[in-house]
Amino acid sequence: MRALRLREWKSEPELVEVPDPTPGPGQVVVRIGGAGACHSDLHLMDEFEPGVMPWNPPFTLGHENAGWVHALGDGVTGLSVGQPVAVFGAWGCGTCARCRVGVDPYCENPAGAPVPSGGGGLGLDGGMAEFELVPDARHVVPLPEGLDPVDAAPLTDAGLTPYHAVRRSWAKLPPGSTAVVIGVGGLGHVGVQILKATTAARVIAVDTRAEALRLAEECGADRTVMSGPTAAEEIRQATGGRGADVVLDFVGADATLALGVAAARTVGDLTIVGIGGGTVAVSFFSVPYEVSIATTYWGSRPELVEVLDLGARGLIRPRTTTFALDDALDAYRQMRDGTLDGRAVIVP
Ligand SMILES: [Zn+2]
Ligand SMILES: [Zn+2]
Repeated sequence: MRALRLREWKSEPELVEVPDPTPGPGQVVVRIGGAGACHSDLHLMDEFEPGVMPWNPPFTLGHENAGWVHALGDGVTGLSVGQPVAVFGAWGCGTCARCRVGVDPYCENPAGAPVPSGGGGLGLDGGMAEFELVPDARHVVPLPEGLDPVDAAPLTDAGLTPYHAVRRSWAKLPPGSTAVVIGVGGLGHVGVQILKATTAARVIAVDTRAEALRLAEECGADRTVMSGPTAAEEIRQATGGRGADVVLDFVGADATLALGVAAARTVGDLTIVGIGGGTVAVSFFSVPYEVSIATTYWGSRPELVEVLDLGARGLIRPRTTTFALDDALDAYRQMRDGTLDGRAVIVP
């Protein structure tokens, strides 16, 4: 089969011929219907070097996958060949306290996982290929009626990651509250949809690009704010001076974190989802009282089931542009240039 492989750090991935995978006991091979291209893949290609992650190339890219069951290993029950499925992308050890409740991204026994702190497309072969080998059937989640793999693929990361970030703050988002989404890209625009579908909060979207703010409006944002020196003040004015109950930063740069603190309400949440690597000073005087600042990474398997339900019912719908496997590098090029419309999904 053909696969888009990252051969070494700081290199462009290459489309190459590799053997078809075969499932061992307990494993599943999924025929890929859609593999999302994630902004974090650019970090893999451009910035990472030996020692940054506990794994190294070569591996096939694509950690956001859905398709159809192609082959089942010995002992796998409850799935059938041809069944449409999504792949839960973080592959933990399966037995630690976190993995037992489906929170594989926070696996506490990474040495016992198929690859430490990774998954398909993150150290092991992912979905930018005709087939993906999933090392444990528990990561294969049946799609609900009405959701096809091309639409489901981005839900496994671009949907699940913002869903987890929103869900943890549900209690702070009653009617009358305000949520701010900073960065309306592949994840942020779905974050706006998730806030509208699962809370009664007013949603304010912030970005530096006018077309991203238009996308936020199409996704249901109640108000948009152009990022800049007056953004925090605009958010304060729009909230009667109080600030935002929840700020979701899908960028994570110094400037966006500073905006998040400046726009947060007392007892609010500032959640850092974007991997921009920025920092923010926390002291008694530097943030509003009782503001909680946390990072999140991906989401849990039970949450993926909930996200797929939202997708199947049309309550969330990531904006996607599809590319053939031959054109996958174009998808990443457009992502780098900032010209990509929504999420790129590679359809092998
Ligand atoms: Zn991702
Ligand atoms: Zn674990």
